Amino acid sequence: MGVRIAPRTFAAALNFVTRYYTPVSLQDVLADSDGRNLPPRALLVTFDDGYASVMESAAPLCAKLGVPAIFFLNAAFLDNYRLAPDNLVCYVANVLGMKTINAAVRVVKGADGPRLQCLGEVFAGFFPTISLAERQVFLDALVRLSGINERQLAEEAGLYVTSRQVCELASFGFEIGNHTYTHVRCRSLKPENFDDEVDRNKASLEAVSGRKVRSFSVPYGSSADLTGDMVRHLGLSGHQAVFLSQSVANSRDAKRPYFDRVSIRSDRDDTFFFEIEVLPRFRRIRNWLFRTRDDGPAGDKRPPGHFRLR
Ligand SMILES: [Zn+2]
Repeated sequence: MGVRIAPRTFAAALNFVTRYYTPVSLQDVLADSDGRNLPPRALLVTFDDGYASVMESAAPLCAKLGVPAIFFLNAAFLDNYRLAPDNLVCYVANVLGMKTINAAVRVVKGADGPRLQCLGEVFAGFFPTISLAERQVFLDALVRLSGINERQLAEEAGLYVTSRQVCELASFGFEIGNHTYTHVRCRSLKPENFDDEVDRNKASLEAVSGRKVRSFSVPYGSSADLTGDMVRHLGLSGHQAVFLSQSVANSRDAKRPYFDRVSIRSDRDDTFFFEIEVLPRFRRIRNWLFRTRDDGPAGDKRPPGHFRLR
């Protein structure tokens, strides 16, 4: 799914960051309302999804180098009783192929449902078009058709952090953030789903960590998932910072509380620099040149400063 980074690559990136940037915490960002008082080359490290490997590799290294970080978690998967939808889909596709995925699609959409060719079409094409209830029907069908025991598989795989590890992260001083309860495409949520996916996750993570959850990372990272209703709900429910992952540079006068993030993959200093410093600025210029208020899925309800790319 392109969401992983090897520990050696991460260590190289973090060493580069501590040499040439000033790592800051969410508190530093929140305390600085207009971006003018943050130190030069301020950089905030974040992790999405709460894979167990962040406890084995990432958190210890951040602690050792004194780098603050936010860990955005989905409470439904803590302690490994269930598999996140993305991991379940990938597992079934890898083991049984796309025919089983498409059979589950037909359970939801009937015989005229789309024929999906690859995983990208499931996450970027199919998921955004179905409701939360339809996604659950799809996932249940996937489990039934593939004959897996989800609980046993989740336990064996041990993919995600445990509640105890969340406590440890919080006690190290790391920030715990909201990433929805079950990792959903937010554009498919109706206002009546916000309580289940946003508020429930916030409350669960606060109960586990003993700390306030005050930031939100949009699953899949697209501004198209920030509908007007979602934006209002995040504000009303105490989320003071909202993070996207479109790899576009944040300007100092960006419309807060929205921040974009850069996903990192490079394992060499020169390409890493290009990835986090150069390309995001080019994307910002490109967006400025080609910006459009073209409606798209979230329409004109998209937060200020974010535009749909042609
Ligand atoms: Zn995620």
